[in-house]
Amino acid sequence: MRSKDRLSAEELLCQLDTARRRLDELTEEVARNDDKMQRTQERELRLLQAEDLESLLNVLVEGLRDSYGLEYVSVVLCDPDHDIRHLLLASGMSADGLPNLLMVESLTGLAPQYIALHQPWLGSFAGCDHQMICPGADGLKSIAMIPLTHRGKLIGSINLCSSDALRFTRDHASDFLAHLGIIASFCVENGVNRARLLRSGFTDVLTGWHNRRYLSVRLNEELARAWRDQAGIICLMLDVDHFKRVNDAWGHAAGDAVLRELAQRIESQVRASDVAARYGGEEFVVLLPNTEVASAKLLAERIRAAISEAPIGLPCGDAVTVTVSIGIAEVHPGPDDHDLKTIGDSLIARADVALYAAKAAGRDRVIVEAA
Ligand code: GH3
Ligand code: MG
Ligand code: MG
Repeated sequence: MRSKDRLSAEELLCQLDTARRRLDELTEEVARNDDKMQRTQERELRLLQAEDLESLLNVLVEGLRDSYGLEYVSVVLCDPDHDIRHLLLASGMSADGLPNLLMVESLTGLAPQYIALHQPWLGSFAGCDHQMICPGADGLKSIAMIPLTHRGKLIGSINLCSSDALRFTRDHASDFLAHLGIIASFCVENGVNRARLLRSGFTDVLTGWHNRRYLSVRLNEELARAWRDQAGIICLMLDVDHFKRVNDAWGHAAGDAVLRELAQRIESQVRASDVAARYGGEEFVVLLPNTEVASAKLLAERIRAAISEAPIGLPCGDAVTVTVSIGIAEVHPGPDDHDLKTIGDSLIARADVALYAAKAAGRDRVIVEAA
């Protein structure tokens, strides 16, 4: 009886010891999870705080790589209609600007895991399976593919890659990565929607060109750049000559068709780095950063010629020849010029004065503002 009592006491002690060790393990795990949760929350906060699509994609690719201390991170996004690419281009960023951001038309055939990627997939990095979603990667041993979804549909993945074979294995819990994926998916959708909204507010419905609002934002940006680089900006202000006559003779719809064609003819002459916008009714503005007045004048003459040299076909079958008058002004913001808004307004106003001088001098001509 006694020995049985002692045995149970030993057993009890042993059980107590096991329980204590288990408690220590659990406490450590809770602390580790706490730490993981806090770091996941910080990463998610950075995603949520990204101000636009471009910075969001930067946080996804480069931010996550740095924050996880990984050798390689890529993001694959399905963009079948080139919608996201156009939005990025419109905001001045090319999708090629981030080498590890892959915009694809379809996920099919890119990696076998895409067939059923409902949860993060953790495992060995296999060249044959993962090379296409991790171009240029070298020496990687493990990968976590975190699904990105839109309304329940897979639209891509965040691919966290490590040269440590044990960093991502099937045995690892993936709850935090799954949570990060949900937040990242939400942020991508939100970023795309915001960029779309912004773009629609910046687009002229008639010509598909940028509008005056866009011009004023870009003018500010370009002036800030010119101020920093001690460079100049040239403004071309174009106005169609006697446009009212087109409307009067053929109607408003014909006038609209002429405006659309004019926008195309102007666009065919300007560089991608120039900023072209419909300023108002039959007025257009082109901003030329880093350009000499002499080359701006040549460009203006080319635009004038491109417009007047061939008649424009109207929906009714007639054709009409129109001409434009163009005013040119230039500004070099000095180191003490801090009020960029006023400088921008004055640049446009001076181009307008030159334009009216061109009108007064007989129209169909280019006039550079008097120095
Ligand atoms: P000027 O050579 O002095 O510039 O003469 P103008 O007839 O071009 O100038 P005016 O300012 O008298 O007339 C501009 C016309 O442009 C009047 C307006 O109805 C027309 N207009 C403005 N916006 C649009 C538009 O979106 N579509 C059409 N069809 N016409 C427009
Ligand atoms: Mg006008
Ligand atoms: Mg006019």
